[in-house]
Amino acid sequence: MATTINYNSSNPRVLIIGAGLAGAEAANFLANRRVPVVLYDLKQCRHTTTGQQSGLGELICSNSLKSKELGSAHGMLKYEMKGLDSLILQAAEEFSVPAGGALAVDRHKFSQLITETLCNHPLIELIDGQEVCDPPACALKHQCSHVIIASGPVTSSKLESWIGQQAVVKSDNLYFYDSIAPVVNAESLNLDQLYYKDRHLDGSAEREADYLNIPLNKQEYLELVNDLLAAQKVPLNKFEKPKYFEGCMPIDLLAERGVDTLRFSCMKPVGLELPSGARPYAVIQLRRENLLGSAYNLVGFQNRLTHGEQLKVFRKVKGLQTATFLKLGSVHRNTYINARESLDYTMQSNQIRGLYFAGQISGVEGYTESAAMGLYVAHQLWQRLSKPETLPSQWPCETAIGALVNYIMTWERPTPSNINFGLMPPLDVTPVKGKKRWEVKKLKKELISVRAQQAFDKFIISSVDQGVTI
Ligand SMILES: Cc1cc2nc3c(=O)[nH]c(=O)nc-3n(C[C@H](O)[C@H](O)[C@H](O)COP(=O)(O)OP(=O)(O)OC[C@H]3O[C@@H](n4cnc5c(N)ncnc54)[C@H](O)[C@@H]3O)c2cc1C
Repeated sequence: MATTINYNSSNPRVLIIGAGLAGAEAANFLANRRVPVVLYDLKQCRHTTTGQQSGLGELICSNSLKSKELGSAHGMLKYEMKGLDSLILQAAEEFSVPAGGALAVDRHKFSQLITETLCNHPLIELIDGQEVCDPPACALKHQCSHVIIASGPVTSSKLESWIGQQAVVKSDNLYFYDSIAPVVNAESLNLDQLYYKDRHLDGSAEREADYLNIPLNKQEYLELVNDLLAAQKVPLNKFEKPKYFEGCMPIDLLAERGVDTLRFSCMKPVGLELPSGARPYAVIQLRRENLLGSAYNLVGFQNRLTHGEQLKVFRKVKGLQTATFLKLGSVHRNTYINARESLDYTMQSNQIRGLYFAGQISGVEGYTESAAMGLYVAHQLWQRLSKPETLPSQWPCETAIGALVNYIMTWERPTPSNINFGLMPPLDVTPVKGKKRWEVKKLKKELISVRAQQAFDKFIISSVDQGVTI
C-alpha cells in the first residue's frame, strides 16, 4: 500500500538528498520560486572556497558537458535547460575553457560558483558532511513536505539499501559500471612530440585548436594495444556481474574486442592529420582540463588497470614518458533504479507519494542529462505546489527533456541513456534529389532540433498561461 511524505503540505518545504548536478539544479530552481529547501550532502562541500575540498555540482571525471551546437542532441538539451534558468549552464558558460564545439569547463571554478550561489541563497539550508539514511525520518526532522533523492550513481550504501528495503524500487538489483579517464599535468608533457588540432576544424580557421594530440604509427599503436591487454586489472567483487555503459567503456575492454577497435573509436585519426598533411595510424587526444591549460584529460582513456600498471603503460607512450598524473583512471559501480516500474511520469515514487527521484539515479546517463532531470523534477514539483488542484502537465516528447523522460518510462530493458536523436520521435523527410545521405541526415537533425525548440517554447508558455510562473 502506498504511504505518503506530507508533513505539512500547506507549508511546502523540500528535502533534497544529494547536492550534485541534479540536486543543485533542483534546489536552485525551487528556492528561486520561494520554496524553502533543505539540501543534504554526505561530502564536506562548503570548504571548496579554500580550494581544499570538492564543492557542490562536482564533475567527477571529464570536464566536458558535450556539444553546444543547437543542431546536436546535447545542444537541444542545453536550450531547454537555459529556458529553465539552469544554474549548471550559467556556471559552465562563465567558466568555460576552449574545447571546439563542446562546452568544457574549469571544474574547480565551476563548482565554486555553484557552491557559493547555493550557500548564499536565503531559502536554502545546506547540511553537508552528513549522510541521509532514512529519507522520511529526515523529512520529519526538518518538517519537509516533499523529498527529492538526487544521490547519484554512487549513492551511499545505507541509502541504497533503504531504497531497496522500503520497496520504493521493485528491481533493486540494477547497476552498471562506469569509468574515469586519467588527467595529466601539462608541464610534464613533452610538447615536441605532440601537435595541436581539433578534429572538425580545418587549418584555415582563425581560432587556435583546443586539443593536443599524440600521433602513433602502426608499431606504436600495436604495442599500446598489447600493453593494455597484458596489464593487470583491478578485480570486481565476486558477487557483481560486470555491466558497462557502452558510451564510457574502459579502453582495455575495447582493446579486447579486436586489434583495430581503438583506432576506430577513441583513437580515430580521421580529421587529425599532422601539420605535414599525413594521417597518423592512430591518435591519442588530450583535452584541456582548466582555463590555465595546466592539466589535460586523456580522452576516452578510462580503464580498469591497477594504478601501477597505468603508470607503466602510459609512460611508454611518446610525449608521456615523463608525465605526472593528477588523476589515474578507475572503474566504479553505478546505482540506478527502474523508473518504469517504480515511478510515475513526474518521477514520484508509486510507493511513497511525495518522494521523487532526480538525476542519474532515475535512469539517465551523463552530466547534462542528470542536471536536466534535476530541473525536470523541480519543475514538476513546482507545478504541483503552485496549482495543487491540477495534474502537472506531461512534457512533450519532441523536446529533449521529454524524450529522456519518455525513454526511462518506457524502456524494455533498463539501461541508462545519454540524450541522442534515437530517443526523439522520428521525422519524415522526403528524399531530396541530388542530396547525399549525410546531407539529408544533417537536415533531419536540424529539423528535429527546430521542432524541439518550438515544442519547448510552446510548453513553457502554456505552463505560464496555467498560472505556473517559470
Ligand atoms: C566514475 C564516474 C565517472 C563519470 N564520468 C562522466 C563523464 O565523464 N561525463 C559525463 O557526462 N558523465 C559522467 N558520469 C555520469 C554521471 O552523469 C555523473 O556522475 C553525474 O554527476 C550524475 O549527476 P547526479 O546529480 O545524478 O549525481 P552526483 O553528481 O553524483 O551527485 C550526487 C550527490 O549525492 C551525494 N550523496 C550520495 N548518497 C548520499 C546520502 N545518503 N546522503 C547525502 N548525500 C548523498 C553525493 O555525495 C553526491 O554529491 C560518471 C559517473 C561516474 C560514477
